[in-house]
Amino acid sequence: MNNIKNRIDMDLIAKAEALLQESKQIAIIPHSGPDGDAIGSSLALYQYLNIKGKQSKIISPSDYPEFLNWLPQNAEVLIYISYKKKAKEYLNSSDLVFIVDHNSFKRSGDLEKILQELTAKKIMIDHHPEPEQIVDVMFSDTSMCATCELMYEFIEALGDENLIDTQIAECLYTGIVTDTGGLSYNSSNPRTYQIVGDLLARGIDKSKIHSNVYDNFSTDRMKLLGHCLDKGLEVLPEYQTAIITLSQEDLLRFKYTDGDTEGFVNYPLSIQDMLVSVIFIEKEDMVKISFRSKGNVPINSVASEYFNGGGHMNAAGGRTTDQLRDAIAKFKAVLPDFYKSLKS
Ligand code: 5GP
Ligand code: MN
Repeated sequence: MNNIKNRIDMDLIAKAEALLQESKQIAIIPHSGPDGDAIGSSLALYQYLNIKGKQSKIISPSDYPEFLNWLPQNAEVLIYISYKKKAKEYLNSSDLVFIVDHNSFKRSGDLEKILQELTAKKIMIDHHPEPEQIVDVMFSDTSMCATCELMYEFIEALGDENLIDTQIAECLYTGIVTDTGGLSYNSSNPRTYQIVGDLLARGIDKSKIHSNVYDNFSTDRMKLLGHCLDKGLEVLPEYQTAIITLSQEDLLRFKYTDGDTEGFVNYPLSIQDMLVSVIFIEKEDMVKISFRSKGNVPINSVASEYFNGGGHMNAAGGRTTDQLRDAIAKFKAVLPDFYKSLKS
């Protein structure tokens, strides 16, 4: 089989290489509320820089779900909201910052202002649409299924694919698998499978990773899912759309902990003819909304226009301080026109 080429711009690689060579202390920043791709790509980069003899630290704006805590070197991640002073000191003495799996400081959570004011050089590695011009060297490619795929390309383009050891490969594989729903959506590029094949060849235990990521439900979480799909689900066949609603009361009843609702929004897309699925989760201070769609349905436009969010065409997020029922009413009010625009 022919090898499919790395898709990285080599001029950018030369610039990044120069910044890496000059740097003495590096910070790696995933987005706020990091997912498997954000943490996987950050940990892969951290370990790669370690092997290269570079001093680096991951500073995550906020904590992340327990099902990612098994990842190699997870204990090295500094959570900003828990260790603000230490994180600020580290950032202030860093001369290079990687902005990972996001492309706007708005997604850096509580680190937004600090990063804006930081004079250190910055490199972005990201696969979301509409990147903001906030860095010195920008690797931004929406054709990548995950930032972890882009991170693989980045390391390979630097001529260092031999440094990808089993631990780094585990991190990269986790990001690719979690961002594509287990290589289901957003993963039709043959190059992705070449990379996955290469990661497997580096000795990762695929079954262990799947089990760590997916087969780790608490009984309460499983019952919460059951509740979502039974009492919490509303199907609007006329708009090929499904809505899941979770109130604070529901979350308390099923002893919700961080990350418990991860992936729930995908289930209704398994209903025949569904194009859009949305979950509204009533948190303490806001309603968090996740949007998913199939095919050529740009649900990120609804997230960005009406719910202070954004994301990919088929997977986006948003939030509002409206009451839960008002947020749902707002979505239902914009749905007819959105649906009409798909059909025109
Ligand atoms: P989730 O539903 O998991 O929160 O988010 C789905 C996708 O949308 C992820 O790729 C995430 O990075 C992106 N996303 C979530 N919230 C926002 C947001 O407020 N702005 C932007 N630009 N992307 C978001
Ligand atoms: Mn991602």
